[in-house]
Amino acid sequence: MERILVSACLLGRRVRYDGGAKTSDDETLAAWRAEGRLVPLCPEVEGGLPVPRPPAEIEGGVGGAAVLAGAARILTPDGDDVTNAFLSGAQQALAVAKSFGVRMAILKEGSPSCGPLRIYDGTFRGHVTPGQGVTAALLEANGIRVFGEDRIPEAAAHLAGLMETLRETAGPGPDP
Ligand code: SF4
Repeated sequence: MERILVSACLLGRRVRYDGGAKTSDDETLAAWRAEGRLVPLCPEVEGGLPVPRPPAEIEGGVGGAAVLAGAARILTPDGDDVTNAFLSGAQQALAVAKSFGVRMAILKEGSPSCGPLRIYDGTFRGHVTPGQGVTAALLEANGIRVFGEDRIPEAAAHLAGLMETLRETAGPGPDP
C-alpha cells in the first residue's frame, strides 16, 4: 500500500506547542486513515521537545532549506536556540518515511517544522511568509512530495498518479 506521512496534530494528537491539536475534518484524510494508509508523526516531539513548549520560528523567515544548510537558526521568543531539536526531528521524520516507503506527505501548513508552503516570518507577530518548514524541506529534498492540509484534493490526485505508476511498474500479473 502507498503510505502517506502525516502531521500527527492533524489526526487529533495533542502534540502542538500549546498542548493542543489541529484535527482535520477532511473526509479524504479520514478515508485514508481508515484504510491504514497514514503514518502519523510529530517531528518536534520526535526531536525531543516537550508538550507544551514555547513557540518557535525560523530566524528571518528564510525557510527550512536555509536551516538545513546551517544558514539560519530556529528560535523561541526568548531567543533560545532550538535548531538542533528541529533538525533531529526532521531526520527522524525522513527515516520513518523511508522505512514505510513513503513518497508523499500531508503536513500542517505554517509550522516551522511541517509547513509545506508557508511559515511565520521570525518576528513572532503572526506574520506569514512563503517558505517551508525544516521537515518539509528535508522530505522534498529527498524526493517526497509534501502537501498542506488545505491541498488534499491535489494530494489525492497525486496519490492516484503514484498508484498508477505502481501498477505500471508491476506490469501484468501471471496468468491464473
Ligand atoms: Fe503538528 Fe508538525 Fe507542529 Fe508536530 S511539528 S505539532 S506535527 S505541525
